[in-house]
Amino acid sequence: MTVEVVTLGCRLNAYESEVIRAKAREAGLTDAVIVNTCAVTAEAVRQARQNIRRLRKENPGAKVIVTGCAAQTEPETFAEMPEVDHVLGNADKLDAAAYAFDAGTERVRVNDIMSVRETASHLIAGFEGKARAFVQVQNGCDHRCTFCIIPYGRGNSRSVPAGEVVAQVRALAAQGVREVVLTGVDITAYGADLPGRPTLGRLVEQILNLVPELPRLRLSSLDVAECDERLIELAASHERLMPHLHLSLQAGHDMILKRMKRRHTTAQAVAFCERLRRMRPEIVFGADLIAGFPTETDEMFEATLAHVRDCGLTYLHVFPFSARERTPAARMPQVKGDVIKARAARLRAAGEDAVAWHLAALAGRDVELLVEQNVSARTPTFAPVKLAAPHQAGALLRARIVRADRRFAYAEAA
Ligand code: SF4
Repeated sequence: MTVEVVTLGCRLNAYESEVIRAKAREAGLTDAVIVNTCAVTAEAVRQARQNIRRLRKENPGAKVIVTGCAAQTEPETFAEMPEVDHVLGNADKLDAAAYAFDAGTERVRVNDIMSVRETASHLIAGFEGKARAFVQVQNGCDHRCTFCIIPYGRGNSRSVPAGEVVAQVRALAAQGVREVVLTGVDITAYGADLPGRPTLGRLVEQILNLVPELPRLRLSSLDVAECDERLIELAASHERLMPHLHLSLQAGHDMILKRMKRRHTTAQAVAFCERLRRMRPEIVFGADLIAGFPTETDEMFEATLAHVRDCGLTYLHVFPFSARERTPAARMPQVKGDVIKARAARLRAAGEDAVAWHLAALAGRDVELLVEQNVSARTPTFAPVKLAAPHQAGALLRARIVRADRRFAYAEAA
């Protein structure tokens, strides 16, 4: 009689699923399936419903509980499903009391997420069997990009106090975790709601200084318009801060950025990457990019393709535009579905070329690898590597990259 937690969506959901697992256990919940959903695209919501139907078939007697951003933004979508027993909002899902069900428990418990003011940190014991752990430092978002539904699922921006973050990272390092990824919804907004308004750079500095036993610290998505000077200095110089930054760029044409209500220009993004690359030549960048945002012309799309080269991006997360109800972008003139698909395919192909180029450049080099499991490992630049022999998950080892293909580099441990 187990409790299975199924995670859809982002790293923040992955972190919260560890908390949900602990809270459900604390509440004495048994024989249940909890689905932690994502609402970033209409496709993500469709996949959540599909997973729920499958999980109900596989677990006929279990209690099926749906939570996460899709449950928060459209609870009725799940409440109307006969497969579902309970629908929980994003604030409730981290509260053990929410898993103490009895005859009187309401089927749908979704509160006003905009009224949530604080983000309490939840000390998780570790990420089961993982070399890498995600630690939440922030939640919610104060921005209102015109295509995005996330603020309606997660509320306004709120930060975890630095002392609690440091304690969490220290606890994970003591558990043998070798790499921690700082995650949230808009982590560059970190600290704006805390006394003294500490910045993300200040938090990163505290973690690196106060937890010297942690070999690797990595950052999740960054808004180039909000990166503070201390963060840039550390990213350019600190050996234990991984030389791999993922940027929330979304497009490579200034008019589209304006219509998205983004806070940076294409020139600022290029300058950001060039400056860091001058200070730390081995640094690599990833980026989120949307293909087919409303009103995007062929010429504007070509500019986004060129932006990939101008910034020297390596890892592309490509999102075919998906109109989300209640967002301004859903009311703009839409690009045709087949055009969106074709543009997304071209962006993905550009991303595959960039990864292949980065892997080929590693050949012949000695690198430090973090073993994820068996023969799979990652470099500090997050390059996927296959080792000649299996190693313990969590092992950090020196290896020589002997060759590469379009998907992996291949290494022999020293
Ligand atoms: S910054 Fe924009 S895209 Fe990111 S979560 Fe906030 S509203 Fe959404």
